[in-house]
Amino acid sequence: MLKIQGLTAEIDGKEILRGIDLEVPTGEVHAIMGPNGSGKSTLSYVLSGREGYEVTGGTATFDGRDLLEMEPEERAAAGLFLAFQYPVELPGVGNANFLRTALNAIRRTRGESEYDAMQFLKLARERMRALSMPEDMLKRGVNVGFSGGEKKRNEVLQMALLQPKIAILDETDSGLDIDALKIVADGVNAQRGPNFSSLVITHYQRLLDYIVPDRVHVLANGRIIKSGGPELAHRLEAEGYATVVEEAA
Ligand code: ADP
Ligand code: MG
Ligand code: MG
Repeated sequence: MLKIQGLTAEIDGKEILRGIDLEVPTGEVHAIMGPNGSGKSTLSYVLSGREGYEVTGGTATFDGRDLLEMEPEERAAAGLFLAFQYPVELPGVGNANFLRTALNAIRRTRGESEYDAMQFLKLARERMRALSMPEDMLKRGVNVGFSGGEKKRNEVLQMALLQPKIAILDETDSGLDIDALKIVADGVNAQRGPNFSSLVITHYQRLLDYIVPDRVHVLANGRIIKSGGPELAHRLEAEGYATVVEEAA
């Protein structure tokens, strides 16, 4: 399980996270919603160990291990997956090689055998069919010339290949039309089970019609100000963030 207590963090000396308390038990999907600029992406970057984010207090553990002491690669090997709001493009790096390298790096640290090119292609094709992804996306440069929807699908493919214990999806729904949204949601729902948990970060309620969360948390001004069930997301959609933020204050 992911357990965060009193987590504070800053960027360039500016405090962004002001004491986050959050527990995501194994097997559960939790949503984080919140106004723009509330610190949602910052939280996901801090959890993934991205450079430039300074943790100034609090703790974050995953399966009892101190996440904040681990290198980003160690976090990935421990089963943490982060899908970025704005996926990077890597011209000159073939998507298949990129995905296989990432997968094998994780398998190595788990003491599992590495996939050769043929084994990987077989697995990737199988997973891509499930995500309605054209096979030529394996041959192209990583995310190069991919539409918004294709980039998101590529992230879900990464997740489906890496089989993380916990997936943090930061606005994976932004820029998706309804069909792509459903495919992405199906990809996440396919992972759901007793050994998988997810933190789904979204600004809008729409995604949560398809990925129905166990819990919904509202992040505002660097703190979780309210938590509830899926109905909380509907209330936010209907009333906006302002009333909930005022209530909490
Ligand atoms: P959200 O994802 O909820 O929209 P962010 O985590 O992206 O919010 O941003 C939270 C706050 O941190 C915002 O006020 C934003 O302007 C600020 N911020 C984000 N990244 C940087 C940065 N690299 N340098 C300075 N301030 C930043
Ligand atoms: Mg934002
Ligand atoms: Mg964001």
